Amino acid sequence: MLDLNIPSKEHDESRQGEALVLESSKNHTGRKLYVESYGCQMNFSDSEIVASILSDAGFVTTPDYTEADVVFINTCSIRENAEVRVRNRLKQFGASKVKKPDMLIGVLGCMAERLKSKFLEEEKIVDLVVGPDAYRDLPNLIGKVDEGNKAVNVLLSREETYADINPVRLNSNGITAFISIMRGCDNMCSFCVVPFTRGRERSRDPYSVVKEAQDLFDAGYREVTLLGQNVDSYKWKSGEEESAESVNFAQLLEKVALVSPELRVRFSTSHPKDITDEVLYTMAKYENICKYIHLPVQSGNSRILEVMNRTYDRAWYMEKINAIRRILPECAISTDIITGFCTETEEEHQETLSMQEFVKYDFAYMFSYSERPGTPAAKKFEDDVPEAVKKRRLEEVIALQQQHGYYRLQQHIGKVEKVLIEGFSKKSKEDYCGRNDQNCMVVFPVSETYKPGEYVNVLIERGTSATLIGKVV
Ligand code: SAM
Ligand code: SF4
Repeated sequence: MLDLNIPSKEHDESRQGEALVLESSKNHTGRKLYVESYGCQMNFSDSEIVASILSDAGFVTTPDYTEADVVFINTCSIRENAEVRVRNRLKQFGASKVKKPDMLIGVLGCMAERLKSKFLEEEKIVDLVVGPDAYRDLPNLIGKVDEGNKAVNVLLSREETYADINPVRLNSNGITAFISIMRGCDNMCSFCVVPFTRGRERSRDPYSVVKEAQDLFDAGYREVTLLGQNVDSYKWKSGEEESAESVNFAQLLEKVALVSPELRVRFSTSHPKDITDEVLYTMAKYENICKYIHLPVQSGNSRILEVMNRTYDRAWYMEKINAIRRILPECAISTDIITGFCTETEEEHQETLSMQEFVKYDFAYMFSYSERPGTPAAKKFEDDVPEAVKKRRLEEVIALQQQHGYYRLQQHIGKVEKVLIEGFSKKSKEDYCGRNDQNCMVVFPVSETYKPGEYVNVLIERGTSATLIGKVV
């Protein structure tokens, strides 16, 4: 995946393959668990649920897979290269298993769901295959493997939201956290494997979401990101009867914003067909709801959007952008783009470039189309754009985004912006880093008068290609 300016932590390339370690594991004994995660933030959040379930079952985490009793890899299927990466990693785990034959190796997440028991045939070193809705069953499944069996649970659920599981925070900075508000997706974009690997869409009880946000705030966290494949279709009802309470995404956003004005609220991902003016007005009403929207366009051409089954067209998308600009003039907008989708012509590709010109996105995740087995596109259309053409179109999209990202970053220079300090900058202990409202990373000198978790006003003096640099005023 190619991304520019690392807009947010929703899909953070630097976290791919990260091993997750529990603070509470230090100085504890128990069977050792190693969990490594790939893909979107939802997977990283799920690994926290897995760690929570297994820590209740007596496990401790380790950052070193060679010494682990149980090795889990939480996988992504979104593009072919994501799966290739996992297969290569399994080979490395296999080499450790030769030295430590009782090591249990489990595959979790989207690839487990997509391949099911076929995984056991294809990768002999794998003992356990568990889909994203079956994590409660893990202690039991591990027990089956201990008895000498292989184990698979890839049942998808219409209800599971893990609402009652208090996710342990793994590798956390103690300041920013993610909260899953829904699972699955009902959209069936023709290129996408997610509806098959994560099942039907279901929304989590809003009171459990608010409680989690409150608990995080009480523990010192100052920013939460509400996560879902399509947050704008969040819909919860307390019961079936007509008088039952119902909560939509705008209302949930408001409830979380009301936890404290000191708690920043972000969310991802928005779908252009579902985002409402009510959400935009709620964002405008609360200073602590960050002015940043990730609104994947995928293509700027209406015919391609139709074959992608995105259920909006170019004009509809532009209207949404106009509404954001009207209601939230300061709002940053980012997107996802796919180049070289089935049947895309050169003229249609030009319309993606012109959409980029129209929006001038702050950030973008850009991909060339990767056919996924079993998706509607794989069944109905030929993957007929040559690889070289897909790549060339991708390079054009990236080059344009680089200009726009740079342009957007320059707009911050000279302004005083509120920044939540997240910690030391990656490059130097003499600098702090944190994000502004629009999700740009800001770097500024450390001073004893403020510390991580606090808000400071920073005068933005200059920018590099991805970061703003300034001083506290
Ligand atoms: N639910 C979100 C949405 O609708 O925008 C994002 C889901 S997906 C994890 C993230 C992005 O991966 C998509 O927005 C799309 O741009 C990209 N993607 C999904 N399937 C793809 C495929 N088969 N080939 C290339 N990119 C793909
Ligand atoms: Fe995939 Fe479309 Fe659902 Fe996003 S909205 S997860 S792209 S099917």
